[in-house]
Amino acid sequence: MILSWYRQNANDFGVVRATRLLVRVVWLRAYVNLSNALFRTRVECPCCGWRGNRFFDYIEMGYTVKNAACPRCDSHSRHRALFLWLQKSYQIENKTGTALLFAPETALGPLWQTARDLQTCRIDIESRRDVEVLADIMHLPFSSDIAVLIWCHHVLEQVSDDRLALRELHRVLTKETGQLIVSAGESSHSSTREFGRSEKALSGNRRSYGTDFIVRLKEAGFAVQRLNYNLSADERRRYSVRDEPFYLCVKN
Ligand SMILES: [Zn+2]
Repeated sequence: MILSWYRQNANDFGVVRATRLLVRVVWLRAYVNLSNALFRTRVECPCCGWRGNRFFDYIEMGYTVKNAACPRCDSHSRHRALFLWLQKSYQIENKTGTALLFAPETALGPLWQTARDLQTCRIDIESRRDVEVLADIMHLPFSSDIAVLIWCHHVLEQVSDDRLALRELHRVLTKETGQLIVSAGESSHSSTREFGRSEKALSGNRRSYGTDFIVRLKEAGFAVQRLNYNLSADERRRYSVRDEPFYLCVKN
């Protein structure tokens, strides 16, 4: 896995920069492994049960997120927070019907399986993930009004026409009872910035959403409610979670 990550970086940024980054990643991971062997437990991962002194730093070209990635299941802050929210607040195990999961997160896989009466359909545009349907979110191969739940996190910023994608999500969601739960990496600026291309230095994102993300959801025909993880300060520390906006949308 780290080899394919290195090859991709070498391709995008050149061998010298990719090699320098690889050395940094390997050194820091060794440091964190040593910390986990020597020092007391301070953090834990709700997705897989791993416990230790700290998580790996998440390092990409141009940015680093400290204490981020679970050494066992590779969950990040958002995955751990959403795992807890799905389990405790949303009570996913009691849900029934059809759920469409876009770009399904590996760390959440075991949790979806606890919802025995929920028929999940895992969808991605690339076959590298454990997916059941290869599909473009802008042109979905589904009938209208079929999904009681649509799960879509950090996908829309990578789609060439996100408004078209949102209209498709609106179309396939069941009227009144269906719920779209969605997030996209939002920045603090007020207006969304369109790059006009896939930006390699920003994980392939085509735009950086501002606080107007909610406006795009409403424009697609959704009634929108902003959610929060409902975690205490102690839980946020223990699971190394940072607050991030996410939304529950129903079809108007
Ligand atoms: Zn984990």
